[in-house]
Amino acid sequence: MGKINTYILGGGITGLVWKFYNPDYQIISPDIGGVFAKTHMVWLHDTMETRKLLTDIGFRNPERLTMKSYIGYFTNGWVSDIQTEDLNRRIILRKMTAWNEKIDKTWDPPTRDLSTVNIVGNNYMNTLDVDLEEVILRISDKSDIMNGRVVNIDKSNIIIENKDGLSSAPYESLVSTIPAPFFWSAYGDISKEFKSIPITNIIVSKCPPFFDEDYSMIYYTEEFPFSRVSNIRGKYCIEFTGIITQEEFKNLYPDLHVEEYFVVKHGRLFNCPGNNPPAENIIFSGRFGKWEYGITTEIVVKQVYDYKFKNKKNENQSSKESIVSSERESSIFV
Ligand SMILES: Cc1cc2nc3c(=O)[nH]c(=O)nc-3n(C[C@H](O)[C@H](O)[C@H](O)COP(=O)(O)OP(=O)(O)OC[C@H]3O[C@@H](n4cnc5c(N)ncnc54)[C@H](O)[C@@H]3O)c2cc1C
Repeated sequence: MGKINTYILGGGITGLVWKFYNPDYQIISPDIGGVFAKTHMVWLHDTMETRKLLTDIGFRNPERLTMKSYIGYFTNGWVSDIQTEDLNRRIILRKMTAWNEKIDKTWDPPTRDLSTVNIVGNNYMNTLDVDLEEVILRISDKSDIMNGRVVNIDKSNIIIENKDGLSSAPYESLVSTIPAPFFWSAYGDISKEFKSIPITNIIVSKCPPFFDEDYSMIYYTEEFPFSRVSNIRGKYCIEFTGIITQEEFKNLYPDLHVEEYFVVKHGRLFNCPGNNPPAENIIFSGRFGKWEYGITTEIVVKQVYDYKFKNKKNENQSSKESIVSSERESSIFV
């Protein structure tokens, strides 16, 4: 039997994946799609989960979309395929320091892994060449979304704010994909400390002079004010750590016309150990919901399948009739 009164907080890709595989859940969100398609700095990694997702939302033969997205490292006027220890450190310092602040060269980063590659790994990601706006359109096609923002959460009720004012709804369970600091402040607990730095994505359609089109993404060091540039389907995204205004960007690069401008509030987040949901009927999901650096789309899809499969198994313990559908479900990973 389907759940009633289960709400998904947030309508980004994470909330939409939960809704797609659990159509009787209700999304509450002020917008659809979140940051996924807006940054032009997000790739759909080629995994079993993302292929399955694409198939389920109507893309035929996703294996044909597979490609290698090459990563370069800009140093001393050229792009290297290899990270040395020193280059890796300088890239991380650039990435973790706001564009207009002085880099503290004595800082020892707690990890040497970049989000996409580690120092000894290959300099490419296996990705799926797909329009992320199209993914959002298809996955949200039949989703009815309750417009609003959740402003208060207690053990059995949520309060939603929208243009008509405040309303209250009882819940049986919640899937929270909204940034953890928002969740906890709505829950009335501000004891945890969540640290993050915003990033600014500036999207241009002309190839910047500091980019090389042989690559999908290039990392930069203290030689530049930005930390990386991507090329996804002919759009170039220049990523700054911190907030840079369009005016400030134009002053730096008058020849580059800004097509889109987007700030990701928690672009660089610092993990917060112990960020566990406060009750068994609340699930945290997605990078910002779990507040875990490194969570990507395939991890969310896996979480949703595992959850569905676990629930199916529990139902099956009391009903032999559903064994067939349970077996079908498990074939997802075969
Ligand atoms: C720089 C960067 C690069 C990344 N690269 C990749 C990548 O290459 N591949 C990849 O798979 N992932 C990548 N990620 C992770 C990426 O963030 C996720 O894959 C995904 O886009 C996050 O989606 P989300 O739905 O979890 O969060 P969001 O997109 O932030 O969605 C949250 C939603 O919650 C809504 N909301 C906020 N507050 C409330 C409230 N109070 N009540 C109701 N709704 C609310 C928002 O409006 C929004 O719709 C990257 C992330 C960053 C920051």
